[in-house]
Amino acid sequence: MVRRNFEGDFGFSISYSTNKFAWYGTTKTFATLSQTFVATELGAFNAHHYRYSPHMSTFLVECDRATWQAYGFAGKTIEESKAICERVFASVLDGHPLLSNKSVWRNFPWVWNAHWSHQNMVLIGDALHSAHFSIGSGTRLAIEDAIALVRALEAEADIPRALARYEAERKPVVKKLVTAARTSADWYENFPAHMKLDLMDFAHSYITRSGRIDDARLRAMSPNFMARYEAASRRDGARRHA
Ligand SMILES: Cc1cc2nc3c(=O)[nH]c(=O)nc-3n(C[C@H](O)[C@H](O)[C@H](O)COP(=O)(O)OP(=O)(O)OC[C@H]3O[C@@H](n4cnc5c(N)ncnc54)[C@H](O)[C@@H]3O)c2cc1C
Repeated sequence: MVRRNFEGDFGFSISYSTNKFAWYGTTKTFATLSQTFVATELGAFNAHHYRYSPHMSTFLVECDRATWQAYGFAGKTIEESKAICERVFASVLDGHPLLSNKSVWRNFPWVWNAHWSHQNMVLIGDALHSAHFSIGSGTRLAIEDAIALVRALEAEADIPRALARYEAERKPVVKKLVTAARTSADWYENFPAHMKLDLMDFAHSYITRSGRIDDARLRAMSPNFMARYEAASRRDGARRHA
């Protein structure tokens, strides 16, 4: 509400990703953050799923705009959309239902503010910036903003100087993460095309999507994966030359 009332002063801007997503819960528990990509006759879906309590998981369904239109989701109720998603992901849900909490289809909003404070008002968290859910850092960013703000207030004798310090110190850090989130989101904006890749190429393209992990880092982190990926690339190269 504060930001909305002073949008011009904060230099507020917003744009939207084209993919659609709906945020569900489920009683199916997933041991780790994992994903399921499904190709259907009418288009491609993916789900990001992870456990958030001993007996519950988040289940975030995403599809590209063409798929969303092919299924006619614009004309469907929340219950009808949920039933379709349960059918699409039946094999991974193992008979567990999806649970809706006003789970409407949304486009991810990219929020940014050129100026982080105005008079005695200051922005933190999602009001200040959004970071795509595929890098799972929105909560961390919001909490770290709060920490940075408290530190700046403690370090400076007056509020204007403290707010300026908060923005100067925190902005470069946030910008770096938001850039990584944008690159990651771009990968998802094209995920039906990536699904046409061979398995190892698909996995490699997924892991390196945000640009924060290159082959050298991946080799150090997951030598077995890189060995498999490089063996598959060599086999493909040899096949192409044969
Ligand atoms: C689909 C999806 C999945 C996500 N998954 C993850 C994840 O796995 N990990 C992660 O770290 N982040 C994730 N996020 C992002 C995360 O939810 C947010 O970045 C985080 O909640 C931001 O915290 P916040 O305190 O800035 O804002 P919010 O959590 O939105 O809190 C703002 C609060 O202010 C209240 N409010 C608004 N207006 C007023 C008013 N006028 N008066 C009083 N109160 C008001 C709201 O009701 C709300 O409770 C996800 C986001 C989405 C959309």
